[in-house]
Amino acid sequence: TAWTPVIGRSLQGRRAHLPDSHPMYFEQPIAMARARDTRFYDEQGRSYLDALNNVTLVGHSHPRLVDVAARQLGRLNTNTRFVYDSLTEYAERLTATLPDGLDVVYFVNSGSEANDLALRMSRYLTKRDDVVIIDDAYHGYTSVVSDVSPSRYKHYGKPDTTHPTPVPDRYRGAYGYDDPDAGAKYARHVIDEFDRLTAAGRPPAAYLFEALLAGGGQVVLPPGYLAPIFAAAAERGVLTIADEVQVGFGRLGEAFWGFQTQGPDVVPDFVTMGKAMGNGFPMAALVTTREISRAFDPTGRFFSTYGGNPVACAVGLELLNIVDDEGLQHNALVVGQYLRDRLAGLGERHELIGDVRGQSFYSGVEFVLDRDTKEPASAETLIICERLKDQGVLVYPTGPYWNILKLKPPLTFTRADADDFTDTLDDILTTGW
Ligand code: PMP
Repeated sequence: TAWTPVIGRSLQGRRAHLPDSHPMYFEQPIAMARARDTRFYDEQGRSYLDALNNVTLVGHSHPRLVDVAARQLGRLNTNTRFVYDSLTEYAERLTATLPDGLDVVYFVNSGSEANDLALRMSRYLTKRDDVVIIDDAYHGYTSVVSDVSPSRYKHYGKPDTTHPTPVPDRYRGAYGYDDPDAGAKYARHVIDEFDRLTAAGRPPAAYLFEALLAGGGQVVLPPGYLAPIFAAAAERGVLTIADEVQVGFGRLGEAFWGFQTQGPDVVPDFVTMGKAMGNGFPMAALVTTREISRAFDPTGRFFSTYGGNPVACAVGLELLNIVDDEGLQHNALVVGQYLRDRLAGLGERHELIGDVRGQSFYSGVEFVLDRDTKEPASAETLIICERLKDQGVLVYPTGPYWNILKLKPPLTFTRADADDFTDTLDDILTTGW
């Protein structure tokens, strides 16, 4: 067919110039040509519903963002050593979405950089080295953040300053959905770890967490989990870092930031963000308090060549406007729940579906071979993703066993999109794969 040579040429070039281990979606990868709103289009013009993309928050190629970026690129693009309005305005708007006190923005270019900086600050401020994390997390690729990312360090050995705590997974973990105290019980493990380390003469510098676990398997934190951890951290001088790279910017519907879904007492010392922040334009940030920022100042000036450039700030600002103007946080709440309700309906008819969970537009469908033993249906999950792709729907597996569909569509996903997704999955599960 006409398309084979195109894919063949692209693939050959990749093989020559990218590392052998570089990941690629799907056994038969797609030569993607363009995308608009909730749909991708390949080189033959075939359309694919995008249920996997948490970066394009307001939909692909949003005309308002394209326009703002192009105009700013044509006018001025430089660095933060100059003064320009878009930075001031953006920093004001961004910090207004956060609790009082989280006022100082360090503009960087990727989630990895933001987490790296948060850990460096935490270690400098506390004069401690150890970091407590949630198991199976991913926080980025730099040396510092690989060392706190189990999915990375399992390839080279856990550093002895990293301390993973149990994934608060009410489907597979020690405390289930039927336990109203699950949150407090999972939190106890974290607090015990703070105390064990303190007793051993090495109190932790930081607690680093995601407000809904991505690599950990689309796990919603149980209610009442973070509040006791935060209270214990404050008592013990442990700084808290909310990694909002996956779930920030309204995706969780009921609040703009993921940590806010755990109650008003949960106010982190650092919030790191990226991905959705620029809808695909590379930008990321760390936000902290003036007090922490001043205490870090003696280590030398912070400066990033591209972080906070005028185009990034213009894009980031317009993105916040679009989320407001189009009511996207609310759409995430309503359509996200509708999608999960429909998926739960499939669960009544298809034995393979062990669990459906999530918050607004961040959901997981966990496939198991046996509902009692919960044996992960890992190979099946990958095949289902391939079949969905063949039928024009894009989604991909996640979790420690790769048996969970990770659903994180653009916030513009409609009920019709949710129906399209569910009907296609239903069809594949019914007719076999
Ligand atoms: N934190 C989380 C939770 C992530 O999912 C990722 C990226 N998948 C990162 C940090 C790293 O972000 P980046 O790829 O922009 O460096």
